[in-house]
Amino acid sequence: MNRTFEEINEKIKKGQAVVLTAEEVSRMAETHTPQEIFKQVDVVTTGTFSPMCSSGAIINFGHASPPIRMEKIEINDVEVYSGLAAVDAYIGATSESSKKSGYGGAHVIEELIAGNDVHLIAEAKGTDCYPRKYVDTYINKEKVNEFYLFNPRNAYQNYGVAVNGTKEVMYTYMGKLLPDFGNAMYATSGELSPLLNDPEMRTIGIGTRIYLCGAQGYIVWNGTQFNTRANTNDQGIPIAPARTIAVIGNAKEMDPSFIKAAYIEGYGVTLYVGIGIAIPIIDVDMARRVSVKNENIEAMIFDYGNGGRLPVGKTNYKVLWSGILELNGKRLKTGTLTSLRKSRQIAEKLKEQIASGDFTLTQPVERMPKNSILNKLEIRESDPENKSVVTKVCINCGSCIGVCPTNALFFNENDEVEFNKTLCTNCDQCLDACPVGLVKKEG
Ligand code: SF4
Ligand code: SF4
Repeated sequence: MNRTFEEINEKIKKGQAVVLTAEEVSRMAETHTPQEIFKQVDVVTTGTFSPMCSSGAIINFGHASPPIRMEKIEINDVEVYSGLAAVDAYIGATSESSKKSGYGGAHVIEELIAGNDVHLIAEAKGTDCYPRKYVDTYINKEKVNEFYLFNPRNAYQNYGVAVNGTKEVMYTYMGKLLPDFGNAMYATSGELSPLLNDPEMRTIGIGTRIYLCGAQGYIVWNGTQFNTRANTNDQGIPIAPARTIAVIGNAKEMDPSFIKAAYIEGYGVTLYVGIGIAIPIIDVDMARRVSVKNENIEAMIFDYGNGGRLPVGKTNYKVLWSGILELNGKRLKTGTLTSLRKSRQIAEKLKEQIASGDFTLTQPVERMPKNSILNKLEIRESDPENKSVVTKVCINCGSCIGVCPTNALFFNENDEVEFNKTLCTNCDQCLDACPVGLVKKEG
């Protein structure tokens, strides 16, 4: 590393950092070498505003009086995951309303960020410690304790171009695909795309501060379906869906103009997420990486018809951005799900924040995995006769050992609880101590 994060942050704090957007540095590269760019530029900002279905938000509603352990939750008739207890919930962007067509979790998240009231209904069986069984109320972002976005898979590093070789219109998450290769749809901001400006993720990792929907957020893990095995071009840039990031950020601080719910016809609800990542120019190699131009970023073309996603060709983002793609002698109109306008705004906003000293860079605390795991789901039909029975299992917590006055209960060499019946005085203290109700009096 020839320039450290600390040195760059010092310059940012003094208002001396030279910050360009990814498009600006690509233009600069037409007349400057990577060595010259390294000398002159400290940070390059990127941006994308695209549908990112694998998104959602954690909400803590606060405890009612008397309290409730929510087991079934709906917000604006959208099912919310309640398996976190007691008043924590996860609302997934693609969860759809049971009553209102075209409305879902993404819309609830958008409404909450905009400051609107939403309708909360929760049910529970009631327990001694959580006696309330029902809640019917209205919440907003000021009333709830926590409301933060936690998106398991965002900012795909490249993505395939979708076409349709069948005779029928297809409605997909890539939008409407016209029959007989009638159009081509893509969803990446090309040379502005965050992970395409640091294709090996040398400067981006766990702990990287990012621009997330108008607020400052963080990368917390590799995204799901993180793929290090995608084929690359001669510049080492993946030409197929590759790496992803899991991100987190305070939704209460987000700007509704950089997070939008959408309903994609024939597919369902999704959430447009705005992400910007600042790339520190730590050496000549990073200067070369951020100089990438649309014509150097290739993408595979997949036929979504005919039983799957068959590769039928390859193109680049200069062609895609031009609006016309030639495939097997046919001219296809291209369309994008990514808003280039908003992607540019995000890169500009991040640039302004860095230039004004409001956004400093964080060095990753951990690099992303070098090797990905990409298993396919194995389909094994269940046996209808095989009725599942929930069995109580000792969790070897040792609570019973703690209360046993005679050492009749003890840990063996494998750290498992054992029982020596000869030492037991039947005092019954372990009965009350066991949290899973495993210890039962015989007879
Ligand atoms: S009932 Fe037996 S095993 Fe249980 S706490 Fe009493 S002495 Fe120990
Ligand atoms: S208290 Fe219950 S769960 Fe815990 S170690 Fe004893 S028997 Fe197992």
